[in-house]
Amino acid sequence: FIERRVSNEGIGAERAKKQMYECGEYTQKECDLVHQMILDTALVETPVGPKQIATTPLSNYLLDADLANFGRRDFFERAEAQRKEISQSEDIFYQKTLELVQVHSFFTTAAKVLRNPQKNKNIAKLQRKLVAMRHAGEQLNYYGVSLDRLGFLTQLPVLINSSLVTREIIGRSLHLLNERLVCEASTIFLIVPETNEIEFWALKGGTAELSGQRLPGGTGIAGWVINNKQSVLTNDVANDPRFFKKVDADAGFITNAMICVPLLVRGDQVIGALQLLNPENESGFVHEDMLFAEHVGRHLALSLENAQLIEKLKKQHRELALLDKRRTELSGLIAHEFRTPINVIQSAAELIAMQHENSKDRSLVRLMINGVARLVQLIDQVRDLSVSSKSDLELQVETFLLQDVFATLVDCFETIITNRKLQLVIDAPECPAVRADPALILVAIKNLLANAIRYTPDNGTIILKALPRAGMVEISVIDTGIGIAEDQVDVIFQKFYEVQSIYEHSSGTFEFKSGGLGLGLPTVQSILKAHGTSVQVDSTVGKGSRFYFSLPQADLS
Ligand code: ADP
Repeated sequence: FIERRVSNEGIGAERAKKQMYECGEYTQKECDLVHQMILDTALVETPVGPKQIATTPLSNYLLDADLANFGRRDFFERAEAQRKEISQSEDIFYQKTLELVQVHSFFTTAAKVLRNPQKNKNIAKLQRKLVAMRHAGEQLNYYGVSLDRLGFLTQLPVLINSSLVTREIIGRSLHLLNERLVCEASTIFLIVPETNEIEFWALKGGTAELSGQRLPGGTGIAGWVINNKQSVLTNDVANDPRFFKKVDADAGFITNAMICVPLLVRGDQVIGALQLLNPENESGFVHEDMLFAEHVGRHLALSLENAQLIEKLKKQHRELALLDKRRTELSGLIAHEFRTPINVIQSAAELIAMQHENSKDRSLVRLMINGVARLVQLIDQVRDLSVSSKSDLELQVETFLLQDVFATLVDCFETIITNRKLQLVIDAPECPAVRADPALILVAIKNLLANAIRYTPDNGTIILKALPRAGMVEISVIDTGIGIAEDQVDVIFQKFYEVQSIYEHSSGTFEFKSGGLGLGLPTVQSILKAHGTSVQVDSTVGKGSRFYFSLPQADLS
């Protein structure tokens, strides 16, 4: 807006009118009036620079009020605040400001009397400031970089880190660089790693339509700079044999002079090139300009490389998430397809068992029935995980008692608990009802209980506990089992993760340390996530574990 302020006056007036109208506090007439007032005092291009010209008697007053700042004592504080806001360099900003203040004269007698004396003082101070800045810039330099440019270099990392939108930042940096070197255009080329081509990635001042176009690796001066990791300065581009004329011809641009520096990261790895074209200065680019461009290039290269790394990581993350989703969906599908034929086998096996109750094949048939039951269990685990991980999982929330869930589980595991000589304690006296999906919560506690059984040696104790707490009920599955090492606590929630080797267990059974598919805890976590909560664990190796989570109490009032 600031760069093209003359042509943008009309847009400003339109926006002001629209905003006023939309806020609803002004009549159409008032909005039109303000619109007209802005246009009456619009900046116009004149031979001495942009100027506001009064076109009506009223606009005399408006203009004087508008530009009264020129004649105020706090002029420099306000100007400096504005400069910082648009992060423009001091020399360019104050030079432009001086031009604007100098061409403006107050129209009304009141402003002439009240504002002119201070305005003249401000002009004198501006001139002194500009001379002092120029002097400092000429006198002081550091490794071939003038102090003024050094200032720009120290500001650049702040600018680069001010946003995560890399393209925007680099575009802004190039713009400031063009201003600093007073040149016509600048371009960032990046190497496309997959093909080794070089891409016009960001352009300022030249022809924006080149953005995104690619050239074969090694083409033109940029290609040479990238391949040789060396900077080039030429004020006679037309006679440089490395120059690739076709781009200029296609874009309708004439390149006279050029600085091109490699974009280097981590010592000597090249990721692209920075190119600056056509300085306004008739004598062309000088060596100091190239040194300066190299410094700038180092900053930009770092920021670009970071952005590329972040993009790569994000892409990998997206791919992994998709892969994980597909894997879960696929296992769900397989489990679903397996369930039907296995149900048929299970029913058939039970029929055969009834017919062979007294025959000598009885034990063989039992083996078959047990095997099928284990298969069903494994398939159900896979199915439970795929169902509970669905992003569109719909909860059937009801009010129910945890005591009922515990009772179902006691029935379910009774034989196993007796066989393993475990003691199962239910500790839920006067526990209020909860609001959740009872079928899914049953699956979650069932998985935790199955683990407690598997990882507790014979004669151990397992407690199913429900404790009301601050409007919630905390449900714990406590065991006196082998416990979990501290460094394993986070990873046990990953799918297919098992602490012990898979060769040490027999899936689908409940013997001590028998292990499962490594899907139990991820299923619990998905179910609880859908309920807006999560499972936590406290564990001590050799002593036992407590897995616990909370559900909201039902409001029975
Ligand atoms: P699995 O089907 O192997 O039990 P889970 O996802 O349910 O898979 O559990 C992952 C791992 O966490 C188990 O292999 C086991 O090493 C550990 N684990 C889970 N619950 C307990 C527990 N109560 N005590 C000790 N270790 C446990």
